[in-house]
Formats: sequence, C-alpha cells, structure tokens
Amino acid sequence: MNDLLRGWGFVVSRVLAALVAGAILGAIAGHVWWGVAGTLVVYLGLQLRELWQLDDWLRHRNRRDPPDAGGLWGEIVSLVARLHRRKQFHKQRTLALFRELRRSTALMPDGVVALNAAHEIVWFNRKAGEMLGLRRKVDFGINIASLLRAPEFVRYLAAGQYTASVLVRPRIGEATCFEMQGVPYGEGQMFLLVRDVTRQVQLETMRKDFVANASHELRSPLTVIAGYLEAFAGDTDLPVDLRAPMLEMRRQAERMTAIITDLLELSRLEASDEQVVGAPIDIEALLSLMRKDVAARDDTRAVEVQLESPHDLMGDQGLIHSAFWNLLDNAVKYTPAGAKIVLRWWTDEAGCHFSVIDAGGGISAEHLPRLTERFYRVDPGRARATGGSGLGLAIVRHVMQRHGGELQIESIEGQGSIFTCHFPPLRLVHQNVAIDTDTRYPLTITD
Ligand code: ADP
Repeated sequence: MNDLLRGWGFVVSRVLAALVAGAILGAIAGHVWWGVAGTLVVYLGLQLRELWQLDDWLRHRNRRDPPDAGGLWGEIVSLVARLHRRKQFHKQRTLALFRELRRSTALMPDGVVALNAAHEIVWFNRKAGEMLGLRRKVDFGINIASLLRAPEFVRYLAAGQYTASVLVRPRIGEATCFEMQGVPYGEGQMFLLVRDVTRQVQLETMRKDFVANASHELRSPLTVIAGYLEAFAGDTDLPVDLRAPMLEMRRQAERMTAIITDLLELSRLEASDEQVVGAPIDIEALLSLMRKDVAARDDTRAVEVQLESPHDLMGDQGLIHSAFWNLLDNAVKYTPAGAKIVLRWWTDEAGCHFSVIDAGGGISAEHLPRLTERFYRVDPGRARATGGSGLGLAIVRHVMQRHGGELQIESIEGQGSIFTCHFPPLRLVHQNVAIDTDTRYPLTITD
C-alpha cells in the first residue's frame, strides 16, 4: 500500500510540476493556458506511447521481452511480467504432471476410463483403448453405454451401485470377458476400471465342467454298487462276520451318492447367474409336507410350522424345496432328540422371510462367515457321522442368489441357531385373502 501511494504521489507531483513549468513558459510567451494545454498534450502523447508498448507486448508476450518503461508504467509492466511468469510456470508443471500421468497409466496392466456425470468419455488410458476398442479423440464425449452395449454393463451403469464389479462379455460369441468396476469421485464423475479376466473365467468354467462331468460319470457305477450292496444286505444267507462290513459299505455308498447328488445340484446352480422367475409356491403346503417328511423318518424331534402371513413365494419350486429342506435337515441333524424345531414364514415391507429355528448345539461365531463354503464343517467328524455332504449350505446360498435373496445365519453356541432366507418384495405373491385371514393367521401347525 505504501509503495502504491509513493508511486502515485510521485506521478501526481511530476504532472503538477510539468503543468507549472508549462504555465510559466506560456506566461513568458503571453499565453498561460496555451502553455498548460501544450503540456497536457505532450503528457497525453507520452502516456499513449507507453500504453501502446504495453498493449503490443501483452499481445506478443510469448515472443518479446517486456518494454523498458519507467515510473508507474514500469511497475505495471513488471507486475504483469511476474504474473505471466507464474502462469507459465504452473502451466508447464501441469503439463509435465499430465504427461507423467499419461505415461504411467499407459503402462498399467488394467484399463482406466474417466467418465463425466452423463457417463460420457472424458479420457482413457492406452490399455482401455485396446481392450474396449476406443479411439482417442473420436470417442471423447460419447456416452460409454452407446459404445459398449453389453446388457449386463448397461444395467450396471443404470443401477449406479458401484460397490461390486460386473463381468462383461463385450463381443457376442467370443470368450473375451472383462471385469469392470466403477470408482465414483467428485460430483457424479467416475473412473471405470477394466480388467481382462478371460483366463480366470475359462479356468473357472473348466473347474465347474470338470466337477459336473466327474460327478455325472461317477453316478452310474455308484448306483450299481449301491444296488448290489442293498441286495447283499437283505440276504439272510450272508455269513454273520460279513454283515457288519456290508452294512458299513452300504452306509458309505449312500454318503457318496448324497455327495454326488449335491455336487450335481451345485453344478446346475452354478451354471448360470440368471435370476429364476418360477411360479407361485404354496408355502403352507410346502412347509406342512416338510414337517410330515421329518415325522415319517420316525424322528423324535418335533417340527412346528408358524405361518404369520397368508402370502406365497414366487420362485422355482424344486430349488426352494431343496434349500428349505437342507436347512431343516441340518436342524434335525444338529439338534438333540426331543428338541423342538420351528419353521417360520412371515412377510413385511422388506419382503418375505423363512426361518428355521433350532435349539441345538449352535455354532461359535468364528465359523459363521465360512459356513456356506463348500465342504466347510464346524466339526468334521460329527458332520461325517451324520451323513452330510458338506454342500448343503452352499446349495442354499446359491438358491438364494438365484432368487435375488440372501441367507442369514445367527447362532449362539450352546443355545441354538436361526437360519433365515430373506427374499425381496418382488418375490411376494399376494393372495386374494378371505375375510377370515385375521382369525386364521398367525397359524401354527403342530401335531
Ligand atoms: P453338512 O452336510 O455337513 O451338514 P452343510 O453345508 O449343510 O453341510 O453345513 C455345514 C456345517 O454347518 C455343518 O457341517 C455343521 O457343522 C454346521 N451346521 C449347519 N447347520 C447347523 C445347525 N442347524 N446347527 C449346528 N450346526 C450346523
């Protein structure tokens, strides 16, 4: 501020001095005002010259040195020159950073596409260009969904849920498979990360095919062996010392059959990620049938059905029966004789739900997250003794995925477990319920 005042004070005093000198010279010549006017004209001319030089330099500042001006103009020129140098420095730095970023992202093994809030391409690295067939500059500003029309990708973008990734097959009839994940930032912009997972998907498909084929091939010989063992076991002429081994062989053959049946079912479920549509399933009939099936096994555990809603479930009857039965079968296996097992069905605004509640030994917390893995058992010895395949909960998890739902497991060791299947509201089949609904529900079915 002081510099500013000092500079302007100097200019004003110089102008006043020039005017006084002009006035004196005018007075000597006999025309004071002519002297003042002449001084002003000369002063204006000098200012215009400085202004012209400044304007000329500003227009060609990248090629020319700043004009050699003194006084206030000199200060203005040096101020502008300093601002210009600073701007140049930042521009160079930004350019260098951008080049560095472009060089480093070009070396990245994965593709990156930057999209604006309207999902238009703003930028992409070399790998993304190669993988998705994007052309530099030509495709900038184009909506990515119009270039990459795979339905699963279009759905993923429209849903706007970027916590998980999506598998995309960009070209129909080709094995190429990309895993894509959106990483949102700023106000609606996002980076789309693209990874080529063709090899992993092929290996996974080979693994699934192998398991399916091996199980299928093993089933026929096993059926023959189990058939002979059954015939031998019923043979009254069988030597006494062979009876026990024969019984054990029959038990193991049954276990192998159970494992192979479950493996085949799991393979069928894994063959597709598509949601099943199915048809309305009469829940009351299904749960009553399951209850009777347990009773028919001459089981001492009492199964109680609690129906809290008259509404039914939309799904695949076979898959749902298999999932619900697996849960009930586990509850029977891992609950002591005489204990009660409850099958509960209810609906609310979150959808419809089915729980199997047992008062068995329960499961300690550290096992819960891994329980739905294939062949994961809390107590391998006990599970084998009960004849389980170790695949039951994996099947339940897959059935729930194919119905857009999920399996929830709650358990307290020593007190029991609650296995709940949560289905979304669109799985609910609203019944045209009669007037007696209020009195009929909740409905409890026991012996
Ligand atoms: P399995 O055929 O061995 O029962 P599952 O996949 O159905 O295989 O279950 C995995 C494991 O989870 C079982 O081995 C058992 O340890 C545990 N489990 C499942 N259901 C229950 C239950 N209701 N109570 C206690 N443990 C259970």
